[in-house]
Amino acid sequence: METHFSKEQLKKIDNKSSEKILRKCVHCGFCNATCPTYDLLGNELDGPRGRIYLIKDMIENNKPATSKIVKHIDRCLSCYSCMTTCPSGVNYMHLIDHGRNHIEKTYKRPFLERLIRNFLSVSLSKSFNFRIILILTKLIKPFTILLPKNLSMMINLMPTNIPKKTLPTMRIYKAKKGKKPVARVALLTGCVQKVISPQINEATIRLLNRHNIDVVVPKSIECCGSLNHHLGKSDKAHETFKKNISIWYDEYLENGLDAIISNTSGCGTTLKDYGFIFRGNKDFKKKAKKISELTKDISEYLDENVKLNFVKNKNNAKLYKIAYHSACSMQHGQKIHEIPMNLIKKTGNQVLNIPDGHLCCGSAGTYNLLQNNIAKKLLENKISNINKIKPQFIVTGNIGCITQISNGTQIPILHTVEVIDWYTGGPKPEMLTKL
Ligand code: SF4
Ligand code: SF4
Repeated sequence: METHFSKEQLKKIDNKSSEKILRKCVHCGFCNATCPTYDLLGNELDGPRGRIYLIKDMIENNKPATSKIVKHIDRCLSCYSCMTTCPSGVNYMHLIDHGRNHIEKTYKRPFLERLIRNFLSVSLSKSFNFRIILILTKLIKPFTILLPKNLSMMINLMPTNIPKKTLPTMRIYKAKKGKKPVARVALLTGCVQKVISPQINEATIRLLNRHNIDVVVPKSIECCGSLNHHLGKSDKAHETFKKNISIWYDEYLENGLDAIISNTSGCGTTLKDYGFIFRGNKDFKKKAKKISELTKDISEYLDENVKLNFVKNKNNAKLYKIAYHSACSMQHGQKIHEIPMNLIKKTGNQVLNIPDGHLCCGSAGTYNLLQNNIAKKLLENKISNINKIKPQFIVTGNIGCITQISNGTQIPILHTVEVIDWYTGGPKPEMLTKL
């Protein structure tokens, strides 16, 4: 694609990177074929190629965003299915991040929209705030009919079950007693995940400790920053990024870290992008690059570094038919698809791909809260595809997908790490007690 950025414009690092990306696009439109929003809405501007043109026009001509542009960019799930399809290697992720920042700087959203987005930014990125919000929404739920439609839909999507905190607050979870650890890793326990599904972090720590690996959980790290990053709130996101980078980098230098483990693929994708995000920052460039290099999805880490010790016992004697849901951030963002499936297959269970598995379930961070109608339709399609293979339970590697899919089906849904933990000597997940 031809571009016409001025020399002055190209002095800005964001413009320079976006120019490179734009020049790779040959406007073939292959990406539209696998874009969930283009598939649903059939409008060129609701597909990647159309959005690329909208972003190009804004940043190249230094134009403020308009409500029309914002509508189409907001409808993008950031599922990155288009990146998997694109034959020219267009990095749509970096381009839309730039577009969203531009929108945030140049467009004033209507009052209610601003309120909701600010509320999400504050409430979801800190586990303490999120816990309070969950308690409040539980109380408000019977009265949502009195609230504006958007707000009532959001409140109804909030989980009602708030499990008790179960992990002791400690900084280092030690490997087996009396054994010299074979590795030392940090775990990102997350903001939302640790409140609504603490069993995922428990299973991760248990599994790693059982395989002789020390797990460090720095107390002041919660959110990875992607929530604000995807809302276009770059200042807030960068604050979180810098804090996380500094804490992990100090830990790496002082005590050594073999990896930083993410068990939420949405967060892992952002952590792996820290290096790019800070490419122009002389104080953080080197550190951010190191943090990205150290980041591994738990499935990737287990596959590359751990000889898993599968055991048969009365807890796991039965075998099941499992549907594997490949989260977009995992398959398109991190290009990890076969690894978790193969790990689960090692348990002896039957693991099946979901038809049209490249398409998003509609979760996409805060998308199901902000674009409820599209998210609902995507969820219906996902559930209908899951039903085609009649699984006994579903497995995935991202808390957002777990929450979204469980809003549409009674079929239990687990995290990959819960299954691996279970078949290597951990407890049977509570969700499966009836199976
Ligand atoms: S597939 Fe790639 S090159 Fe073709 S229009 Fe889409 S982004 Fe551009
Ligand atoms: S990220 Fe997903 S929703 Fe957005 S343009 Fe690409 S394929 Fe479509």
